[in-house]
Amino acid sequence: MEKIKMTTPLVEMDGDEMTRIIWQMIKEKLLLPFIDLKTEYYDLGLAHRNETDDKVTVESAEATKKYGVAVKCATITPNAARMTEYDLKEMWKSPNGTIRAILDGTVFRAPIIVEGITPYIPTWTKPITIARHAYGDVYKNTELRVSQGSKAELKVTDQDGHETSALIYDFEDSAGIIQGLHNKDKSIEGFARSCFNYALDTKQDIWFASKDTISKQYDHRFKDIFAEVFENDYRAKFEEAGIEYFYTLIDDAVARVIRSEGGYIWACKNYDGDVMSDMVATAYGSLAMMTSVLVSPDGIYEYEAAHGTVQRHYYKYCKGEKTSTNPVATIYAWTGALRKRGELDSLPALCGFADKLEKAVLATISEGIMTGDLAAISTLANKQTADTETFLDEIGIRLERLLNQ
Ligand code: NAP
Ligand code: MG
Repeated sequence: MEKIKMTTPLVEMDGDEMTRIIWQMIKEKLLLPFIDLKTEYYDLGLAHRNETDDKVTVESAEATKKYGVAVKCATITPNAARMTEYDLKEMWKSPNGTIRAILDGTVFRAPIIVEGITPYIPTWTKPITIARHAYGDVYKNTELRVSQGSKAELKVTDQDGHETSALIYDFEDSAGIIQGLHNKDKSIEGFARSCFNYALDTKQDIWFASKDTISKQYDHRFKDIFAEVFENDYRAKFEEAGIEYFYTLIDDAVARVIRSEGGYIWACKNYDGDVMSDMVATAYGSLAMMTSVLVSPDGIYEYEAAHGTVQRHYYKYCKGEKTSTNPVATIYAWTGALRKRGELDSLPALCGFADKLEKAVLATISEGIMTGDLAAISTLANKQTADTETFLDEIGIRLERLLNQ
């Protein structure tokens, strides 16, 4: 069989620990035998980030800007323990944070749904994709404790030196706490555009919610910017695509989400997205079955798994033990990136390969062969736990069959 050709390279960001091992296995067993894989390789493994003073992370993000599509392996975000473990020069920042700051994107997380793994909410038969606005609000706040008898005010000085102030609270009868939040029109608009683009891309409705009835300036600004961007630039495209933009209050959204069958994108403010993405991931069964894609307002894509480097499994692997680490979300990061590359470069064979690889993954699991995390929650009677390598080999057998059809 002739290998499938690529024209533009994918930006490949390698990572750490168990996912770095799996990364290599996926390439060897599922990609290289079938594709003339063209990538521009960046090693974001912690040792190499340290060697390059983290320049490699910035370079990989710049390359993503140039080529438009990247696939990323999970990476360690250093903490105190990692400083000693890897003898680091500095506690380097989270690569995801660095990449996101350069691409200015929104992260979309979607569960992979498979036969035999029933979501805790049985009506959720289609994926719910969560889009989290990853800027500002409580994550970039200023907080103070306030003693009794103090008066707290908000004060803004404009560029001409004019001051506007408003009373927050007069703490006459008790000590207390205050918090200052901000967001930027530019960031909210970028978020809205990423969301609308991704909805068009995936042909799904998009929901957005805030608490504009209570927060008449702050949350209302989010509602207004979304409405304005939608009216000006997206209404016609949505009509043509047969999809909808729907705004409601956050509590109403939560109630509707629970009653829904899924199949839409739920755009969330920063805090809502933090909380709801964990709820949605758990309800669908496993963090190891959650995909993640960063989409910039100007249409640049970076695909990855939502989980981390699976450190505990890696230490077992290093001792020579077989592990049953789930590679599905990492495989889907590759299929997402290859399909997007295929779409951009008009390579239907590459898109077809991505479809078939996903089909092979789902077939393997629904035929009862799965990793331990899935076996623990699967309702299939004939389920058997496979180690990572065996599981990948089983996917490979089914993939080859599909490609030869
Ligand atoms: P984690 O790697 O996601 O793993 C947490 C636990 O979830 C694992 O110990 C395992 O449970 C289970 N799990 C996650 N993925 C799995 C998979 N593919 N197959 C089977 N089980 C899976 O999170 P962590 O242990 O908190 O973080 C480890 C490192 O990853 C940290 O250094 C962190 O900085 C990094 N991290 C990176 C990213 C990213 O690059 N996007 C995201 C999150 C965390 P059991 O041990 O019970 O089997
Ligand atoms: Mg969270």
